[in-house]
Amino acid sequence: MIEKPITDYDEEVRNCSCSYCGNNCDDITYLLKDKKIVGVRHACRIGASKIINDQDQRLLNPLVRNDEGILEETTWDVALDKTARLLYESDRPVLYGWGETSVEAIKKGIKIAEKTGAVMDNQSTICHGSSIQAFQNVGHPVMTLGEVKNRADVVVYVGTNPMDDHPRHLSRYTTFPEGFFRKNGRKDRTVITLDPKYTNTAKVSDEWIQFNMNEDYLLFDALRMLLKGESLDEEEIAGVPTSQLENLIQIMKNAEYGALFFGLGVSQTLGKQKNVDMLIQLVEDLNRYSKWSMLPMRGFFNVSGFNIALTSETGYPYGVDFSRGYPRFMVGETTTIDLLNRREPDFFMAISADPGVQFPGYTIKHLVNIPTIQIDTHWGPYTELADIVLPSTRVGVETEGTAYRMDSIPLFMKKVIDKPENCHSDEWILTQLYERIEILKQEEDN
Ligand code: SF4
Repeated sequence: MIEKPITDYDEEVRNCSCSYCGNNCDDITYLLKDKKIVGVRHACRIGASKIINDQDQRLLNPLVRNDEGILEETTWDVALDKTARLLYESDRPVLYGWGETSVEAIKKGIKIAEKTGAVMDNQSTICHGSSIQAFQNVGHPVMTLGEVKNRADVVVYVGTNPMDDHPRHLSRYTTFPEGFFRKNGRKDRTVITLDPKYTNTAKVSDEWIQFNMNEDYLLFDALRMLLKGESLDEEEIAGVPTSQLENLIQIMKNAEYGALFFGLGVSQTLGKQKNVDMLIQLVEDLNRYSKWSMLPMRGFFNVSGFNIALTSETGYPYGVDFSRGYPRFMVGETTTIDLLNRREPDFFMAISADPGVQFPGYTIKHLVNIPTIQIDTHWGPYTELADIVLPSTRVGVETEGTAYRMDSIPLFMKKVIDKPENCHSDEWILTQLYERIEILKQEEDN
């Protein structure tokens, strides 16, 4: 369906950001009428619908659940005082989420976690945490999306489908754009997708290599053997004909600049972190012949920024436990899902995240029995569980802030329109909570 261009607007604001996926597109134009967004240019369909339909299901006032179990409107003072006291009096608080807020807000969250002995965790715990562990174990050759655009002649996607999840990844950075050394754009590049499924990314690739689900490790290991000149005695490996793998390794070996992107199809299938370990070693081996780098396809627009901010403050990327007065990190011990499965937390605050959508059922059951707080912009399944709701503002739309793109490039996201009257930024809300917790502590000390 071809949509009519929007002509009924009175202001055009260029170089705005889309705060949805890890592409962090910062070339978006907002069309405003009477200081409200009525149209958007350059965003993909997902980004555009997020920006334009922003007021659907919007949380507009602080809410507290009453004795009948109904959420009712309240004042900011009441909601903040209650939240601060619940957090201060808890023994095992968890502050979870942070993927869709600014680094400035995340830093305030770290201060609160330190002060209250909380666990500070984000969506990495259920997505690319295993990739980060692998990076910390063996390191990895990095790249920026700008380098890929200007240099890459071979692009490989493994276990990821950016055409649906990061729609402008191919058109803005990797495949279609003209680059400094790739003047003919798409014609100068070979794009290969390795995936058990025939995805929309596979459709636009030069080649789709289908491999068996959960045999990633075997596949990457076989490619490393072929690269080293070993012969494979099998006719097929992980469901892929050996001849097809031999052809793939020749293309990779002969690349001038190769860029490999991988998704949860690698990091969350059987083998998890070990799959990523093996993929890193394949890319390292390829660097003996050519220039190759790799990146995980990060989902939310600042999920990467959380890992960077927390690592710079504590040395650990996610699941950091401050309960002993110093930061500790141990997967399976200090990570949110494991804590909830052991029924340890007695306070749970989700900030710009919806555990109601993201967590398994058994994990969510524990949230019903403990105080739960939501800091977010929109109504979602987690709102149905929350005891207190603190309505916040959209970063890059109503609030300025910093976010890290999937390639760890920090980007400033500007404010474009005014926030709803009774909403506040995550940073403001967390500052208020911190100040209230300090007062409670001083009262206790006196
Ligand atoms: S690709 Fe991602 S960041 Fe870019 S406009 Fe679409 S949703 Fe927004």
